[in-house]
Amino acid sequence: MKTEFILDAALAIQRTILANEHTLESLDREIGDGDHYINMKRGASTVVEMQAELASLSPEAALNKIGLKLLSTIGGASGPLLASFFMSMSKSLKAHGDDSPTKIAAAFASGVQAIIQRGKANLGEKTMLDVLIPVAAQFESLAALGHDAKFIANALTKTAEAGMRSTKDLIATKGRAAGLGERAIGHIDPGAKSCQLMIEAVSQLI
Ligand code: ADP
Ligand code: MG
Repeated sequence: MKTEFILDAALAIQRTILANEHTLESLDREIGDGDHYINMKRGASTVVEMQAELASLSPEAALNKIGLKLLSTIGGASGPLLASFFMSMSKSLKAHGDDSPTKIAAAFASGVQAIIQRGKANLGEKTMLDVLIPVAAQFESLAALGHDAKFIANALTKTAEAGMRSTKDLIATKGRAAGLGERAIGHIDPGAKSCQLMIEAVSQLI
C-alpha cells in the first residue's frame, strides 16, 4: 500500500459521504440523534485537509496521524471507534509490513478488532460492525487464497452491502438505538450505511 492510495481513498470517502447526505442524516434521525452525517462529513473533511502533511509520511505513519486527528474531531460514538480503527491498522502495518493483500487484510482485521474492544459490541447488535466484521473475515480469507486485489475489492463491496442490509431487521443492543427496542426494526443502522459507502468507494479505486 502506498500513502498516495490513502490520500485517494480519503477523497473518495469524502465524495461518497457528501453525496449521501440525505440518506445518512435521515437514517440517524430515525434511530439516533441525526448527527451521523455531520460527524462523518467533519471527519472526512479533516482528513482531506491533512493531505499535504500526510503525503510525505509512510502509510503506517499517515494512518496513525489520521486516527489521532479523528479522535478529536469526529465526536459522537463513531469518532473514537473509527479513530481506533486507523490507529490499530497503523500498528499492524508497522509490525508486519504493508506489501501484500494478506498484510493489508490483517491490518484491516486488527482495526475492526479495536472497534470491537473499544465499543464492546459484536456481530448482530445493529452497528457498523455488522458491515466491518464480515468484510474483515472475507478480506482475510480471500487474501489467504491468493485472489487479486480487484477480485477481493468486488467481493468486499457485495459483502458490505449485505451486512448493511442485515441491520434493517435487527434490534439494537449498543449505541443510541439500543433504547428503542423493537421500534428500531425496519431501519438500517447509520454507521453500517456509512461504512458500506466507504468500503464501496475505496474498492472502486482498485
Ligand atoms: P452518536 O451515536 O453518538 O450520535 P454517530 O451518530 O456519529 O454517534 O454514530 C452512530 C453509529 O455508531 C451507529 O449507527 C453505530 O453504527 C455506531 N455505534 C454506536 N455504538 C457502537 C458500538 N458500541 N460499537 C460499534 N459501533 C457503534
Ligand atoms: Mg448520532
